[in-house]
Amino acid sequence: MKKLISFLPVFAILALSYYAFQVYEQLSETTINGLVFLPHLLALFTLFSAIHFKRSGVFFYSLIVILVYSVLKFTPSIEPIVSTLLAITLSLFLITYTLMPERSVFTQNNLNSYLLFFAILGIAFFTATQAPVWQNFLLTQWLPLKYFDWTTLTQTGLITCSLGFISLLIIFALKPSPFSASAIGILLLLTIQLHFGDSEKSLIILSSGALLLCLYAIVQESWRMAYLDELTGLPGRRALKDKFNELNGAYSVAMLDVDHFKKFNDTYGHDVGDSVLRMIASKISGGGSAYRYGGEEFSVVFPNKDKHLAKVHLELLREEIAAQEFVVNRENRRVTAHKTKPKKKKAVQITISIGLADSVQKNNQAFSGPWDVLKLADKALYRAKKKGRNCVSI
Ligand code: GH3
Ligand code: MG
Ligand code: MG
Repeated sequence: MKKLISFLPVFAILALSYYAFQVYEQLSETTINGLVFLPHLLALFTLFSAIHFKRSGVFFYSLIVILVYSVLKFTPSIEPIVSTLLAITLSLFLITYTLMPERSVFTQNNLNSYLLFFAILGIAFFTATQAPVWQNFLLTQWLPLKYFDWTTLTQTGLITCSLGFISLLIIFALKPSPFSASAIGILLLLTIQLHFGDSEKSLIILSSGALLLCLYAIVQESWRMAYLDELTGLPGRRALKDKFNELNGAYSVAMLDVDHFKKFNDTYGHDVGDSVLRMIASKISGGGSAYRYGGEEFSVVFPNKDKHLAKVHLELLREEIAAQEFVVNRENRRVTAHKTKPKKKKAVQITISIGLADSVQKNNQAFSGPWDVLKLADKALYRAKKKGRNCVSI
């Protein structure tokens, strides 16, 4: 489901580009004259945003869009070899930069990305202008012509883009993100652009669509950084604040805290501690929305549930974590969850304490809102710790 959600804006931009194709001819000349500048404006805006938000991946995506646009627009006649080389370059770049880690745009660590960019460009330029022997290889008709008579793109070009498309789909399936979703959309739009060659209509619409996808990737990534906790992938405190603004009526808030976690870190190391936090975060679900409050503390919000109903879920969670054997592998400092204790490796038990409170008013006690309920949950957590830990207090 989550995978489809990150694809929705990509579908929307593809649909918008299709619609623009349909209505383009009906636009007035003045509008079309204005639209000519749209890709330029979007390119500037995308490049600056990528630099500002330190998104090197999107920066390179935008460079690819600008490259294809410029070659198609400024080359007097588009030879088949030129569009073939663009197709290969485009697919290689998109796959490479989707796999590379995100960094600041201008940093020494990005040197390899720049070297690769210019190396591929250099080879492509050499191939287009010097006509080396492999040029014929790229123009080979691999399959019967009748399958390709609908497009101006060469067989090598089309096959490369298709392989690129499949590779990006696999990358997305393995690690879904708005970033890899937009790479798929960009490849699709630019392949269609290569098919249409230097038509002004396709250049304006498809380049703008591809640049909008770059912007979407930047906006989504910034949202993710602001709202999601990097270690656990759970929403963070800012998202909890938003959730609190939506709450009304009867709801419960729980505070979870890992027991004796400082000692655990001191014994097994911070990395192993991090793995445990990730593992716990993956189990907090069902019945409520989980947030990483900070450190080794999590909050769970149960809209429309009083504390007695919420307690049923939390007891199950507490028992599940207490029953789980965490196996510490001291060599690679990782921790794995096991249902049964393996023989040689050291298995440790992790427990959590939970404080729970709800918005239901008792004895005319007035709550000013979810933050008060959270304070009560915090006090209940304190009681759970005093009671001996590994329990839920209300
Ligand atoms: P208690 O049972 O009373 O909660 O004891 P505690 O040791 O868990 O509580 P304390 O507040 O003394 O220590 C919390 C520890 O949580 C301190 C810190 O090392 C650890 N911690 C907080 N955030 C992280 C994190 O992101 N990763 C790791 N590995 N440890 C963290
Ligand atoms: Mg704590
Ligand atoms: Mg603790």
